[in-house]
Amino acid sequence: MSGLVAPDGTITRHSGRHVHANDGPGHVIRTLARSARSCLEDSSERPVAVGVAVAAQVDPRTGTVVHAPNLGWRDVPLARRVEEELGMPVVVINDARAATIAEWKYGAGRGARDLFCLFLGTGIGGSAVVGGRLLDGGTHALGEVGHITVVVGGRRCHCPNWGCFEAYAGGWAIAERAQEAIRADPIAGKSLVERAGSPQAITAQTVFHAYRTGDPLAGRIVRETERFLADGVISIVNAFNPSVLILGGGLLSGMPEFVPVVESAIRARCQPPAAGAHVLVARLGENAPLVGAAKFARAPNLG
Ligand SMILES: [Zn+2]
Repeated sequence: MSGLVAPDGTITRHSGRHVHANDGPGHVIRTLARSARSCLEDSSERPVAVGVAVAAQVDPRTGTVVHAPNLGWRDVPLARRVEEELGMPVVVINDARAATIAEWKYGAGRGARDLFCLFLGTGIGGSAVVGGRLLDGGTHALGEVGHITVVVGGRRCHCPNWGCFEAYAGGWAIAERAQEAIRADPIAGKSLVERAGSPQAITAQTVFHAYRTGDPLAGRIVRETERFLADGVISIVNAFNPSVLILGGGLLSGMPEFVPVVESAIRARCQPPAAGAHVLVARLGENAPLVGAAKFARAPNLG
């Protein structure tokens, strides 16, 4: 999706949909450029800068996507290629960092000097603001908390590691865990398969819907996911000591019950000074990466 974003973070015009990367970078870049152009049609407003948010590790100096395991991209010069399409300067930023900027400047974290934004979606990502500064890291990849280990020698992740937080509690992993549970017990999994149409079509949202109808296998997957979420979040809160933990992402839209589970785990099991972190739900929803990328393009120092 593309949008024109005003200095106060409001989207004054938008076009297109969230782009999925299954068709490869060329298709995605052309779709992106088309939706950006359509935002500018019939508009007297001209953007001062263009920001692109992408689920990837990004080199912000060059706007190159270094590695995007969930998209299957490597070394894609995204900023240069979008610049060629649009004829104006483009910056590229990791989507979780962009969403964190948006929640910090315009959303649930407004005014906070120390916060952590944790986004639970297909993957798990986040970003930290400490002392009023968005942390960056030596290779601009700080906040990849989906890849902290929660199970020693555990499930294979999309990254080079095993046992990652995301490999249990990310949307893709919830789907995989459900599919494995069905292979192990096809009778218990029958209604979940019928609901999705086939085992391969099962997603995290299928599991959540089935859970709401009292499906025992879905219930087991949800309970296990809660435990992985609690373990992951406790490590993050102990490590970053945020005053505010903001939770967002598509998994929470399907399962808002995860929020109180996470909050009580923090109160009960974090180091006492960190255990008081306020837990808030992200306010900007799926527009957060767009709004944050625009802010980053307008003011890279985030002032
Ligand atoms: Zn990983």
